[in-house]
Amino acid sequence: MPVPPHPLAAPLLAGERRALARSITLSESTRPEHEAQAQSLLAEVLPRAGRSLRLGLTGVPGVGKSTFIEALGLRLADAGHRVAVLAVDPSSARTGGSIMGDKTRMPGLAVHPNAFIRPSPSGGTLGGVTRRTREAVTLCEAAGYDVLIVETVGVGQSETQVAAMTDLFVLLALPNAGDELQGVKRGIMELADLCVVNKADLDPRAAVRAQTQLRAALTLLTPHDAPWRPRALRASAVTGEGLDAVWAAAQDYAREVDIPARRQAQAAVWFDELLREAAWKAFRDGTPAARLAELRAGVQAGTLTAVQAVTALLATPAAGAG
Ligand code: GDP
Repeated sequence: MPVPPHPLAAPLLAGERRALARSITLSESTRPEHEAQAQSLLAEVLPRAGRSLRLGLTGVPGVGKSTFIEALGLRLADAGHRVAVLAVDPSSARTGGSIMGDKTRMPGLAVHPNAFIRPSPSGGTLGGVTRRTREAVTLCEAAGYDVLIVETVGVGQSETQVAAMTDLFVLLALPNAGDELQGVKRGIMELADLCVVNKADLDPRAAVRAQTQLRAALTLLTPHDAPWRPRALRASAVTGEGLDAVWAAAQDYAREVDIPARRQAQAAVWFDELLREAAWKAFRDGTPAARLAELRAGVQAGTLTAVQAVTALLATPAAGAG
């Protein structure tokens, strides 16, 4: 039996902003009937998604992320690109409100006809926020946005998650990169395809030094056979200096790197993650809590090994039920 098209699909595909906003709200809902509707809408528009350059962006608070997105986004939107800004901020669940992606942080872009800004979903866990942001990426692309910027800040694993859903990961740094490098976790540097020393207008000489240091660090971290040599650049989100070079580097990246292959690999990892999560949940729901607790206690007490406990559980998951 054919499923009737979702009423939001046509206006969404026509690029109507309100339909896009409502589609994202639907995908963020945790009500089971909404989840089912959102999945059918996503499946329907999926063939029209995928045609954008997805940029991830990170950097410590105060480095200038929102100023940078506003400045770069306005240039692109003025040049005819359709720019969507999304955010992954797992802490927004705790504070109740969302700071990341807040429209007031990007006032020009917020009212630009070619731009769409959506704050981080407050999905509870990082997994929940990540899933909803991935779905928002699909919906924005289906609505015709061709540049996607996904912003995040160093909270737990959020950088890894954003790098896993974007084509190109940009790390914003400060001109005092010597100190900065100590603050930036090595793991985040390893994710960066592009490092941009922002606020170069404040201290141009320090910015050049920082760029040199970052370049050296990136060279050390990059395997010789890597398809892309991460670059370090300088910019000022306030004066606009260097922003064209950042965009040019992003376009070089899009030309030189096999983005479809990267996305395929990302999709496979994502599928495995979801499967692991769902399989664990199904297993846990089908296993008496007392049985789990009993075996866990046994492992803690040293009366059986963890491998023995897991083997016993998998052999008779429902043992002791009833
Ligand atoms: P975020 O927390 O990373 O989003 O940082 P913001 O974009 O809010 O910027 C923090 C502060 O730095 C603000 O006062 C900005 O005006 C300022 N700022 C951002 N980029 C630049 C820049 O390139 N040059 C200068 N001089 N100030 C900047």
